[in-house]
Amino acid sequence: MFHCRRCGNCCRWSGCVRIREQEIDPIAACLGLTAEEFLDRFCRISPDRQALSLVEREDGGCIFLEDDGPGQAACRIQQEKPEQCRTFPERWNFPGWQKECPGGQTEEKSAEPMQ
Ligand code: SF4
Ligand code: SF4
Repeated sequence: MFHCRRCGNCCRWSGCVRIREQEIDPIAACLGLTAEEFLDRFCRISPDRQALSLVEREDGGCIFLEDDGPGQAACRIQQEKPEQCRTFPERWNFPGWQKECPGGQTEEKSAEPMQ
């Protein structure tokens, strides 16, 4: 059973966090921004030019990752986080994710995953 350990490793992965059009307004509202403000401040065109994605921190991690120490990672837009994040690791993941995600390495009963 999957058990998210809130390590934040999946959010530190330096790949795109894609945003669907219908996710723009809810995420903007969650941040207290207009859609235009959210797009200006937090979104960019993905490298393959096929989608919008969140901008990244200088270290490649997600701009919305709040790093408060081991086991304390949190998402600033938790209530409205993108589908890509909601479906990790079952429907979306990245090469080698099993090594990065301790949540996939347990048989314990699950808590709600961070992502
Ligand atoms: S939006 Fe939230 S859950 Fe998704 S990668 Fe960023 S911090 Fe992690
Ligand atoms: S889903 Fe996995 S990598 Fe992401 S925070 Fe939870 S345990 Fe860590």
